[in-house]
Parts: sequence; C-alpha cells; structure tokens
Amino acid sequence: MLILIANLGSTSFKYRLYRMDATGQEVLAKGGYERVTDYASVIDDALQTLQKDGVIASPSEIDAVGFKTVLGKDLSGCVWADETCVQALENFAAVAPAHNPPYANGIRQFAQSLPQARLVALFETAFYQWVPEPRSVYALPKSWRDIGIRRYGFHGASHKYVAERSAQLMGRDDVAASTASLYLQGPAPISGKPLRVVSCHLGGSSSVTGILNGVAIGTSMGFSPQSGLPQNNRVGELDSGALPYAMKVLGLSLEEAERQLTKESGLLGLSGVSNDVRDVNEASLQGNADATLAIDHMVDSIRHWIGAFAWQMGGLDALVFTAGIGENGHEVRTAVCEGLEEFGLVLDEARNQSCRAVEQEIQAEGSRIKVFVIPANEESLCPNKQ
Ligand code: AMP
Repeated sequence: MLILIANLGSTSFKYRLYRMDATGQEVLAKGGYERVTDYASVIDDALQTLQKDGVIASPSEIDAVGFKTVLGKDLSGCVWADETCVQALENFAAVAPAHNPPYANGIRQFAQSLPQARLVALFETAFYQWVPEPRSVYALPKSWRDIGIRRYGFHGASHKYVAERSAQLMGRDDVAASTASLYLQGPAPISGKPLRVVSCHLGGSSSVTGILNGVAIGTSMGFSPQSGLPQNNRVGELDSGALPYAMKVLGLSLEEAERQLTKESGLLGLSGVSNDVRDVNEASLQGNADATLAIDHMVDSIRHWIGAFAWQMGGLDALVFTAGIGENGHEVRTAVCEGLEEFGLVLDEARNQSCRAVEQEIQAEGSRIKVFVIPANEESLCPNKQ
C-alpha cells in the first residue's frame, strides 16, 4: 500500500511517500518546497516528480493521503479528509488564515488528482487534549467560551514526535512507548522520576510546548496560530485592547486590521525587512537596528515560554530545538540558552555552531539539562519511523 503524507505549512509544502505492508514500512521518496504561494501547482509538481523519478508509474498507484490539518474547532483527532472536514477548515479559516485554506485547497486538489485514494486528516490540536482545563480556558464570559474560544494549540505532530524521540534519547522507553500510543490508548501511568521536556518548534510558524512524561501540559499557541511567539508575518501575543484601539485611531476596518496582524506583523512587521529569519539575521549583522529588535523580541518570547513551562513542571530535564530556525539557527539557540548556568543549562558553543539540521546533543559536559536538536518529523507515518 502506498501512502503519501502531505504537510502543507504556512509557507511550505513537504511530503513523504511510504510503502507499507504487513512486514513494515519504507520511505520511497520525500521532498518539499519553500516559500510557497500556490499550493495547487506544487502538489501537481510533486506528483509529476514522483512519476518522472520512477518512484511511481502513475499517481493512481497512491492508495491514501494523510494530512496534518490545523484547526477544525469541534473536529479534532483523526478523521476522513472529506467534504465535512474541508467545511470545518473553511468555517474556521478566519481564525487560521495562513493554515486552514492551504489544507482545504490541498485536500480538494488531492481529491481531484487522486480520485482513487482515501484521504485522512489528523488535526494538530489532538496532542493538546490532555492539557489541564485551567491552562486551556480564557477568562471570558460563558457565551464566548460556548462558541469555542479557548486555547487549542498547534504543531501537535511536531511536538509529539519531539516528545517521543527525546524520551528515547533520554533512555526513557517507558515514556516513549506511552507517547507512541497516546492517540489510541491515552497516557500510560509512568512510575519513577517524571520526564520534563520543553520543545521549541521554531520555523515559519513557531510554538513552545511543555511536555511532562510525553504528554503536552501546555503550549504557547492559543485560540489561533496568531498567538504566542512572534511568527514570520503574524503578530503572536497581543493585548486584546490593542485591536479596537488601533482600529479607532488608525481608522482601520476589521478586515484591514486582521490583514495587518496576519500578513504584516511578526518578524516582518518588526524588522521591516523580511518574514524569513535568515534575511532578518543578515540585516541585523549589517547593523539594522529594527532587524536586531525583531530577533531579540523572538528570543525573549521563546525564553518566556520555556521558563513558564519549566516552572509548571517543577524543573526541566531536556530542552529541544526543532523546525527550520530551531534546527539551523545556531545564533537563536545561543541567545535562548544564554545565562542559564544557575538553572543547570550550559551550551557547548562549538557543538551548537556546527549543528545543522541533524539530531545532536549540544549541551556542554556537566550541563544538568540536556539540549537536543531534533530535526522536525511532521510527515512521520508511524511514531519514530523515519
Ligand atoms: P519551517 O517552517 O520549519 O520550514 O522553517 C522555515 C523557516 O526556517 C524559514 O522561514 C527560515 O526563517 C528558517 N530557516 C531555514 N533555514 C535556515 C537557516 N539556515 N538558518 C536560520 N533559519 C533558517
């Protein structure tokens, strides 16, 4: 059976094609596109590439496609990626404008290109179903909460992989096994010392998640992917009083204010340079003060959330960096880990600087807290299989 996993990010499209049978699974091909604006054409291109490269004779050989869908309000967990799912994504598109439309369009595109394939969606929010209620509610009137305004959390596939992989790297196979079967069996009771991990998914979209014994206990993203850390071009944390104030004083319509918050804010808004941290870093090195402010604000926010979850869990055993910036941006990792000797975290700068997108420990000898770079694996078919 051939299964394609399609990861339609806010700025990228990544995929893996698996062959799966009774004896196991293997990755037949993987690929991706960055800085994507037209998702239909890159999906088409990916299917043509698989054919051109001789991986498949025809797209009709693909039996199923799996999607890592983002926000469907009451729809979460694993569901058929059918018209009901597409409708749920479209109904909540205003809340996740950078994420839901690519999936709604992508699912429709795959349904058209691969009419024989079964389409399945696993929502990013599923990993957060065990977050304690006091940490997932907002202090709002009941009528607001009744229409689904609460913390959902995103990047579930990435943080779940980090939860499982970091547990393995820490020699905690009991925790790794519990995480692997989380969606089928719920969290298993863990005896012995609790394992406390903070996972930093830093990419086009970014979030920090606290993970206790392989289960998410909280995350920086809330109701929408516009929350938490500053994103590539989305604002991140913003006081709710700022929106009506800016609309009144700047004379903005709600639509224009939303557009500016979701398209002209974040790294792009603060730096005035780019939504890509590579360009912002470069400008900062050239002496652009706004670019430096943008990077410093991002780092400050990452540290804020790491601190919050380390405190909630009563300490920290491992800090993990993943995704485009987390895997490649050694400058950001250095800044996030600076001055934490008192807490038992010391980075090995040589290891840190040489580590690019490979799985590696980058803490110094004697650092009580481990620091891992773990390449993101959001297209994994089964837990911890490459
Ligand atoms: P992702 O969403 O995980 O695909 O990450 C995309 C982001 O990773 C881009 O927007 C870049 O800002 C960042 N990125 C990619 N390569 C590098 C690099 N070599 N150094 C720093 N950041 C990078």
